[in-house]
Amino acid sequence: MVDLKRQYQKIKPQVDAALQEVIDSTMFIGGENVQKFSTELADYLGVKHVIPCANGTDALQIALMSLGLKEGDEVITTSYTFIATVEVIAFLKLKPVFVDVDADTFTMNVDSVAAAITPNTKAIVPVHLYGQSVDMEPLLAIADKHNIPVIEDNAQAIGGTYTFSDGKTVKTGGIGLIGCTSFFPSKNLGCYGDGGAIFTNDDEVAAKLRMIANHGQNKRYYHEIVGCNSRLDNMQAAVLRIKLPLLDEYCRARRDAADYYDNAFKDNPNIITPHRADYSYHVFHQYTLQLKNIDRDEVQKLLAERDVPSMIYYPVPCHKQNMLKEYNVADIDLPVTNMLQDCVISLPIHTELTQEELKYITSNFLEVIDQLSK
Ligand SMILES: *Cc1c(COP(=O)(O)O)cnc(C)c1O
Repeated sequence: MVDLKRQYQKIKPQVDAALQEVIDSTMFIGGENVQKFSTELADYLGVKHVIPCANGTDALQIALMSLGLKEGDEVITTSYTFIATVEVIAFLKLKPVFVDVDADTFTMNVDSVAAAITPNTKAIVPVHLYGQSVDMEPLLAIADKHNIPVIEDNAQAIGGTYTFSDGKTVKTGGIGLIGCTSFFPSKNLGCYGDGGAIFTNDDEVAAKLRMIANHGQNKRYYHEIVGCNSRLDNMQAAVLRIKLPLLDEYCRARRDAADYYDNAFKDNPNIITPHRADYSYHVFHQYTLQLKNIDRDEVQKLLAERDVPSMIYYPVPCHKQNMLKEYNVADIDLPVTNMLQDCVISLPIHTELTQEELKYITSNFLEVIDQLSK
């Protein structure tokens, strides 16, 4: 599904030297790479503050902690996402309120958010799933009207953009009050271990986020609030500083692969290729198709026999996970989420796919579909 080895080979001299430098310095925690990377990422994203942290899940948790919510407060999000988005809500004893997604974009159906708002709604967490931005302009309009903070889960869409109706284009993650991302190795901007970051343009929020990520302290050993320990380390930051200038190129390579797939599959009645919304620059963290009138298990089985990797993201939507049993949400009405769960399939997508590999994957995929549709 991903090929990090070939990507590493291309930057090996820089990475090896940078890592050796960190080891020689023995500045493993903190250190200048962390500082510099934060500034460089803030410049890239066009945000005022970047607070590095240990992983994307922590980023989301710290973002929610900074809002000072109380048990039972409601957070609107989607069930069609990686579990981390929802897990942090439950972990903080808040209440996840699920809205459905759009079948074409796989992202939050913004029209259904208004109806989900109650006096207890204290945050909205849109997820830029698979690399495509949620339709942020109407979402911000609803959120602003009710004075509800928006926390973007940008773990899958770093490098992507959203374009407002006046033509203004903004990087995802820098649109809501707070943005969160992950540098998990397979993400669009991945490090060589775990890493994450939180973004905001608000000075006060930034100070609070920093404090929470650092044991609730501003001054060493004087702890004002209950926080946690969540740091990006110097080695990961060193790798990220080498990869950040390549991010746009990485995103383009992913889009090129997606173009190839789109073109190969466009006329097949059993395949719906991923829709690219006008307002979004899609950076294809995943290339996810919908299969129609075809047995997905059989497709996966036959693909595996032909050495074509495929994955289901995600086989069980969050609202049906046992983790959320106590919320009694397994049977709520999310028709699109439930429909997608049964028909999506993702093909390999990364920065190193060759024309040969794309040809092999697409021709085999089409043969399998052809065979099963008879
Ligand atoms: C990867 C991911 C996360 C969590 O990131 P980690 O660094 O693995 O903790 C959160 N949300 C989404 C949508 C993700 O894809």
